[in-house]
Amino acid sequence: MTSIAQNINHINSQLPQGVRLVAVSKFHPVERLQEAYDAGQRLFGENRAQELAAKAPQLPTDIEWHFIGHLQKNKVRMIMPWVSTIQSIDSTQLLQLVNKEAARINRSIKVLLQLHVAKEQTKSGFTVEEVLQAANEGAFNTLSNVTIAGVMAMATFTDDMQQVASEFETVHDTFLALQKTLNTPNFKEISMGMSDDWPIAVEHGATIVRIGTDIFGAREY
Ligand SMILES: *Cc1c(COP(=O)(O)O)cnc(C)c1O
Repeated sequence: MTSIAQNINHINSQLPQGVRLVAVSKFHPVERLQEAYDAGQRLFGENRAQELAAKAPQLPTDIEWHFIGHLQKNKVRMIMPWVSTIQSIDSTQLLQLVNKEAARINRSIKVLLQLHVAKEQTKSGFTVEEVLQAANEGAFNTLSNVTIAGVMAMATFTDDMQQVASEFETVHDTFLALQKTLNTPNFKEISMGMSDDWPIAVEHGATIVRIGTDIFGAREY
């Protein structure tokens, strides 16, 4: 068994039933993704539009591609034929555009609303206040080609695991509040947890974890 296969099996053996693993394959060549695929992995996450659009055609068609990075408006069209889910919707304008581009090519895709709960200013996403206000104003209603399936977030990059846990708790609370307002069974996913913090994320209700380094090793930028 390859080390990638071992890593995937090891993580899966620790994930509770119903929590899905997205293999974050950014910066790794398609050969490494193929290894993960051969080990049974079908969900992959990429954070750059060009990279996703270059890799996807080289790999099996039953892969579910999740886009997890900041998405510039002029890159939406590039990824639209490939992605099953865009996890990083960080504005209502981007959401509208994604819906329009999905309609243009007759696709229906899932999206997650990205929440900004970390301390770093550099991370993007709706603040808790913004997302609740947008939900109340109906910004997430009636989109023909997009299903809003839940939320996504990243915790602060820190050794302080109390801080990380409290941010994941905020994500969970916000998810519950949104679920109440949106009142649709489609809204059910919480994507949080990376190599350094996924067990804490799972404790706080993650349904999707996004793991790169612990599967593929360190990235070479
Ligand atoms: C890179 C990345 C990950 C995975 O990070 P690792 O620490 O390598 O597991 C998860 N989520 C997002 C949004 C990322 O950009």
